[in-house]
Amino acid sequence: MSFHNLELNSAMLGAVERAGYTEPTPIQKRAIPHILKGRDLIGCAQTGSGKTAAFALPILQMLDSIPGRRPIRALVLAPTRELAAQIDEEFGKFSRDSSLRNAAIYGGVSQQPQVAALKRGVDILVATPGRLLDLMNQQFVHLNQIEFFVLDEADRMLDMGFIHDVKRVIKRLPEVRQTMLFSATMPPEVQELSRSILMDPVKVEANPQATTVESIAQSIYFVESGDKRALLKHILRDPASERVLVFTRTKHRANNLAKQLNRARIPAEAIHGNKSQTARTRALAQFKSGRTAVLVATDIAARGLDIDAVTHVINFDLPNIPESYVHRIGRTARAGASGIAYSFCDVTERKYLHDIEALIRKPIAVVSEHPYVSAIEAPVPAATASAPPNGKGRRRRRRPRRFRGRRQTHSA
Ligand code: AMP
Repeated sequence: MSFHNLELNSAMLGAVERAGYTEPTPIQKRAIPHILKGRDLIGCAQTGSGKTAAFALPILQMLDSIPGRRPIRALVLAPTRELAAQIDEEFGKFSRDSSLRNAAIYGGVSQQPQVAALKRGVDILVATPGRLLDLMNQQFVHLNQIEFFVLDEADRMLDMGFIHDVKRVIKRLPEVRQTMLFSATMPPEVQELSRSILMDPVKVEANPQATTVESIAQSIYFVESGDKRALLKHILRDPASERVLVFTRTKHRANNLAKQLNRARIPAEAIHGNKSQTARTRALAQFKSGRTAVLVATDIAARGLDIDAVTHVINFDLPNIPESYVHRIGRTARAGASGIAYSFCDVTERKYLHDIEALIRKPIAVVSEHPYVSAIEAPVPAATASAPPNGKGRRRRRRPRRFRGRRQTHSA
């Protein structure tokens, strides 16, 4: 199927071609025709599925056909500033030849340029909830003419505690509007929210809920926590590890790990919520350009990062929320490329692994041959026992003698 079958007009087809997209992704195929018919929509789609274009293209097409003044007519709410900036960029990319204007507003930076953009007039506003409410309270933003409302990454929005802010924003929207809700997972809270804000929505799924993208090769390394850093360096020394996104549990661990890697002459940057927007943008630019091969991130900071060609996602720490695993590994294998996801699992993380395997409904292959195999015999989670990629069955070995005694005593 090509983009020509989706009832997009010539302007949008031209924009898609300029972006270099030859074929619509599954979420684009399924969502665009419904959105163009004016239906409310629930899109169950993972990060990297192409969901931004799935709502941006039809919204731009429908806005284009409405002449007139310039009140804000489309609002996209996103949980993080990176995601908001990215969505705004995508709208900008597709609307280059039109007279429509888009802008992003998010916290952590001065409000002045954002207010200036709002004063010049904006058709499509992409916002994080906090800054939006702030600028609404200051009377810089009026939402009474909104025709299209997108709530993106609704599950993460709830995880991050933004539900009250989101509800406050929704109260200010006109009753008559077209609403689209996108979420990677559909926990009960998201379903409840969707019932209250959508009218007779059509539900489209790009991937069955909580299954991970098939093209990602996933494996587990059982390792003691004090050996994780050494194991990471070992993996990063492989020339195949070109562009690696590493996840840690906390900001502190992300910072420490990036420092340690740099000390080992592996250029790395950390990205997390405590960093200024400028520092985050710089770290991201360095990574995108290939100047740093390793980006160390926390879940919240990585949410919505659009980085093409990540060769590996490495879970330095396993997430305690199994859905986060799906989000994280979705950073590799974006839009059809294949990717690799490695997860380190120490004895305290076995229960997280168990939950993840239950959620994705398949065991993750174990790498049984590596220099830092955990010596600790821990109960094996129920849903395991597949062969690792090298064909050798799951084995738990004692730590090789040459590595005993070289263990680091502090964790990363
Ligand atoms: P998203 O899930 O919206 O964050 O998109 C993930 C990535 O896929 C972005 O880099 C998009 O530019 C890219 N993308 C979106 N749609 C397509 C498509 N039809 N073909 C190729 N790449 C795409």
